[in-house]
Amino acid sequence: MNERPSQAGVEAIREAAAQATPMMAQYLEIKAANPGCLLFYRMGDFYELFFEDAETASRALGIALTKRGRHLGEDIPMCGVPVHSATDYLNRLIRLGHRVAICEQTEDPAEAKKRGSKEVVRRAVVRLVTAGTLTEDSLLASRANNFLAAVARVRSETSLGLAWADISTGDFAVTAIAPGALASELARLEAREIIIADTLMTDPAVTDGLEGHGAALTALPASRFDSAAGEERLRQHFAVAALDGFGSFARAEIAAAGALVDYILLTQVGRLPHLSPPRQVAAGGLLLIDQATRANLELSRTVAGERRGSLLDAVDLTVSPGGARLMAQRLSSPLTDPAAIGARLDAAFLFGSDPQLRERVRRGLARAPDLERALTRLTIGRGGPRDLSTVARAIEAAAALGEALANAGGLAPLPRELADAAAELQRDRQPLALALDSALAEALPLDHRDGGFVRAGYDSALDEQRALRDESRRIVASLEAGYAEIAGVKSLKIRHNNVLGYFIEVSPQHGERLMQRPLSETFIHRQTMANAMRFSTAELGALEQQIMLAGERALALELAIFARLTDLVREAAESLLALARALAAVDVAAAAAELASTRRWSRPAVDDSRALRIVEGRHPVVEEALRREGASAFVPNDCDLSADGDGRHIWLVTGPNMAGKSTFLRQTALIVVLAQAGLPVPAREAHIGVADRLFSRVGAADDLARGRSTFMVEMVETAAILNQATDRSLVILDEIGRGTATFDGLSIAWAAVEHLHEVNRCRALFATHFHELTALANRLARLANATVKVKEWQGEVVFLHEVGPGAADRSYGIQVARLAGLPPPVIARASEVLEALESAERARPRQALVDDLPLFSTARPQPPAMETPGEPIAERLRSIAADDLSPRDALALIYELKALAAQRP
Ligand code: ATP
Repeated sequence: MNERPSQAGVEAIREAAAQATPMMAQYLEIKAANPGCLLFYRMGDFYELFFEDAETASRALGIALTKRGRHLGEDIPMCGVPVHSATDYLNRLIRLGHRVAICEQTEDPAEAKKRGSKEVVRRAVVRLVTAGTLTEDSLLASRANNFLAAVARVRSETSLGLAWADISTGDFAVTAIAPGALASELARLEAREIIIADTLMTDPAVTDGLEGHGAALTALPASRFDSAAGEERLRQHFAVAALDGFGSFARAEIAAAGALVDYILLTQVGRLPHLSPPRQVAAGGLLLIDQATRANLELSRTVAGERRGSLLDAVDLTVSPGGARLMAQRLSSPLTDPAAIGARLDAAFLFGSDPQLRERVRRGLARAPDLERALTRLTIGRGGPRDLSTVARAIEAAAALGEALANAGGLAPLPRELADAAAELQRDRQPLALALDSALAEALPLDHRDGGFVRAGYDSALDEQRALRDESRRIVASLEAGYAEIAGVKSLKIRHNNVLGYFIEVSPQHGERLMQRPLSETFIHRQTMANAMRFSTAELGALEQQIMLAGERALALELAIFARLTDLVREAAESLLALARALAAVDVAAAAAELASTRRWSRPAVDDSRALRIVEGRHPVVEEALRREGASAFVPNDCDLSADGDGRHIWLVTGPNMAGKSTFLRQTALIVVLAQAGLPVPAREAHIGVADRLFSRVGAADDLARGRSTFMVEMVETAAILNQATDRSLVILDEIGRGTATFDGLSIAWAAVEHLHEVNRCRALFATHFHELTALANRLARLANATVKVKEWQGEVVFLHEVGPGAADRSYGIQVARLAGLPPPVIARASEVLEALESAERARPRQALVDDLPLFSTARPQPPAMETPGEPIAERLRSIAADDLSPRDALALIYELKALAAQRP
């Protein structure tokens, strides 16, 4: 979506406004100032949308499209949503990729009337709602972050700047990355919205990385990404003289971070939520996992897009929303520094050794509310009384937890991560909690605007006004009987509504009597309805006035108290954010310990070696699924891809269909992800030398939206792996070369294995049904064959799911097809064809070819020499003094060279 309106568009709107009714003119002006947004224009109890916005919204939301007045001789299309249920509609529009500008009335309509009968109520946009800048609980998933990301590029740097923030929690970070890593970084963040300079929308180095994340893409004028302005903005916001205290940032990083803060200010209309200072994430500090790999390994959601069944779902045993968000972050961003990984594991395994402490801490955490999001809402003026109470309850929960943790330190010192958290939790915030608790009532309304949230006895002036109001209400209630008697109407009732205030209601027959003297001296007629007549009295009017005044004064007092309490919280925002983070860190550590103890997961040894040794590894998700279904237990398997010394670090895994090859491949990758995230692993033992990148190519799926067939997708992903994997990477390749003719596929798979072995030299698992490849193990020193075993029993296959050394010679595809229910005639015919093919193969085995092929060579075929010395082009090229060329000369030179080339035969 583009923020910048065309000049012609603005002119057209201005012209239209000049001919419109005053209200429409106001609407059009506000609309012109907020291009690219649907405008929710407040009218009483509704937000209304007009013109194209109305058409778009009514289609998207399935609500009626009506008309309101005429403009330039045409009906104005209109639709509306009630204010009280607006969040639901907003949610749907945001999910569909729209942005919404919320325009409120900023004065009482009575004020506008005072200015003149034709005056329009003043209105202003109070907020732009976009996918990346949400703060409402009802619009956010409590256990996931909601990141807004900014991508920037400055001419003088090769790296891109990437900044991201979750404004609902205050998390803010920045990094510099190579353009090629943009896609995997964005995949890691799962940002809901990405902002980018409009000038980069045509830069392929950037746009390639932006594709396919499902995030809303917002193009902004390039001026918003100016690094000098960004620096100034950041300095101002964090009130520092220089940014150096936060890190030494590249210009592109500053440009991205500055644009991000600027955009948040724009969408929140000047109110910036509390953001932590930008945390600089060092390049190379994270295990790089590209989008295809994340999707294939189902790290945070399944291929079908669901959280259930993903790795995150299987490991997330946290008990608080903040803990769940941190767990999701850690799992999507595994580390590469063994010391940092070790610190996380230390924290988890302290809890492992003390189950009672773990239980106590988890119970305490489960009671602590979502502090980060309440805090953000309070800082941007969107909070309510319940958010204040959340702060108080979080402080109390934290104090108790901090004490429990510090005591647990007891004899031995606590691991660093927990010691830091315990110190943070124990900081004295009681005065704030007390200030909040003493003011807030037991039962709290969601919104502060109607009052009713301050505890009785907290403020004597407030108590007085409330007593006055309540007393008057009691008098009103007692008047009913008296009036019934005076009027001689037993059924007389005193009622209340917003238009008339308190009034007396009787049936029309009785009403006639009340309008006769002498009763009419007491009862003043107000309204005649079909089945009732309404009256007031002087006494009732006076009481009404008293109640209203007292109510208004009480409300003003409550609002002042709310503002004071909110200020207290705002002043403590930094310390409260630190508290929220400490709670989340403790939750993740305790959840990790819970995994280790309840599921028999173990602590991996993680270091800088190139080891990858897993003893009795299991697949966390498949194991859980089998357990839930009460099926037979998961069969653990060992894996050793250690590349130190003369280890065989590439395994070629063959075996029948359905034997468990994919499961084995994936579990190895998942164990590495878990270990580097600093979590326990589903294995008896694991020794993991950190990987720098993880690649996987698993299964087949086409991407028709991007114009790629199944085979093309497979080849694009394989190309990415062969071009990028280093000797520190882990590569999982499942059945490459299957989507084409047998010989093409076999040849590609063959060459890929050789390339992994000779060039990438990475740790790798390569599953295949091309059994010919197993012969490569004789020729490639660091390649081993592994197979998943089956037993044949009475013509059926029995899957053992056991991985061991060796090679399979058959795939048992036809047996599996029979299990799947293929019609018997097809199975019988397939068996006949297979027998014929196999006998032909026996006569002239393809296997023998392997031994006859020359060895794989990395020497590239030389392209034919373009020029021989002495030829005109070569001479001209030699004569160029490149440093002296202006861009214009360079262009002229290219034309000249092309002309020379055209003269060649
Ligand atoms: P194909 O070649 O047909 O793709 P595959 O060899 O890759 O098959 P998987 O998809 O890994 O086989 O496994 C098939 C099923 O076997 C899994 O869905 C799972 O239920 C079961 N399975 C796999 N590994 C194990 C194991 N180690 N223990 C128990 N069950 C397992």
